[in-house]
Amino acid sequence: MIEQRRILRTALPGPKSAALAQRRVATVSGAVSGGNDLYIEAAQGAILVDADGNQHIDFGSGIGVASVGHSDPRVVEAVTKQAASYGHTCFMVSPYAGYVELCEELAKRTPGDFEKRSALFNTGAEAVENAVKVARAYTGRQAVIVFDHAYHGRTNLTMAMTAKVQPYKDGFGPFAPEIYRMPMAYAYRWPTGPENCAAEAFAEFASLAHLQVGENHIAAVVVEPIQGEGGFIVPAPGFLKMLREWCTEHGVVLVADEVQSGFCRTGKWFAIEHENVVPDLVTTAKALGGGLPIAAVTGRADIMDSPVFGGLGGTFGGNPLSCAAALAAIETMEVEDLAGRATQIGELLTERLTALAAKYPQIGEIRGRGAMMAIEMVATDGSKAPDAALTKAVVAGCGRRGVLMLSCGSYGNVIRMLPPLVTEMALINDAMDVLDEAFAEAIG
Ligand SMILES: *Cc1c(COP(=O)(O)O)cnc(C)c1O
Repeated sequence: MIEQRRILRTALPGPKSAALAQRRVATVSGAVSGGNDLYIEAAQGAILVDADGNQHIDFGSGIGVASVGHSDPRVVEAVTKQAASYGHTCFMVSPYAGYVELCEELAKRTPGDFEKRSALFNTGAEAVENAVKVARAYTGRQAVIVFDHAYHGRTNLTMAMTAKVQPYKDGFGPFAPEIYRMPMAYAYRWPTGPENCAAEAFAEFASLAHLQVGENHIAAVVVEPIQGEGGFIVPAPGFLKMLREWCTEHGVVLVADEVQSGFCRTGKWFAIEHENVVPDLVTTAKALGGGLPIAAVTGRADIMDSPVFGGLGGTFGGNPLSCAAALAAIETMEVEDLAGRATQIGELLTERLTALAAKYPQIGEIRGRGAMMAIEMVATDGSKAPDAALTKAVVAGCGRRGVLMLSCGSYGNVIRMLPPLVTEMALINDAMDVLDEAFAEAIG
């Protein structure tokens, strides 16, 4: 058992991590970002242990993956058992129960009480690509609507759907056609103020969709119910509902990309439930596999069954090990009420971050839901100019003290918090004390 406590035994990075960082330079592509250069040897719950024995509080969860905690006992047992039984047969060649059981769970957990079908894949990007393929096959249309600040992945199609050029798209074109970007209802930065944001953003969306694309050409609207990489932007209340109604009116498939926000992270199984909106398709990945790679598209049976027979699949999609891990992770989420835990974590984070914002006016906004919270750093002159330098300094300060924080946002000025949902409140408090120290140090 790894004690759930932050412990620093060496300066960071320690000698073993530093040696690995050096070897890495000679062998790993320089285009893969380096993270914090702390090489992990073990992890449990909310604690990462690096090669030098330092214990870090993980506020990143490997980008929202380790929601059930690192090395969740149920996941470890299920994967071990599965590996000893069989590792791969390919579901399209020799099927097995785990795939079917996971699709049953997905049907049960995702929003909507209609008949559903799922298909399993390996990564979030692959799930999003397949949701687009399904929507195109179903509607016989080609255009796809995405939003400012969106992140949907790094493959050719999803790169086109992702908003930010640096670093995701720079030099990687040409991009897939028929992708149209619309304004996101980003209340904090909406020009006429947050009260008008949802209605005005929707009006702009509807106008652009009509004038520039044509409703009868649009296969899908793909939206993150809380934007992840783009800055943990929570669409202004009502915006998602307006999109839902518009999609229904025009026969457009509404895809909720819940790759980051799904599976209890926000205090509900899916973030879109906070807005009482039922999408036609949901894409999931990250937390679904409890640490193993797996992704899914789940949604209305008639839509999911519309592509040609054999049109969906892939060698590794729904690999037996990943299915076993996902079933175990879902059981942990259910049995340990991780949605409830996410809500509690969110309450404590909100309380602590509110106190910090009173102390540091550079914190322009606190936002998010449950254990998907963020702070946006801005200039203190009232301009809301993004402060990416301060963000970087605070994240680095946390890192030096043994708290792994991640930044995000189109302007690189958001610190996001994605602790495992099993994180003890004492660790949340410790991390918030460290964040305070890092702010004090960075501001000087
Ligand atoms: C991470 C992410 C993706 C891409 O998932 P990968 O597994 O990295 O391909 C897609 N959509 C959202 C919302 C994400 O956060």
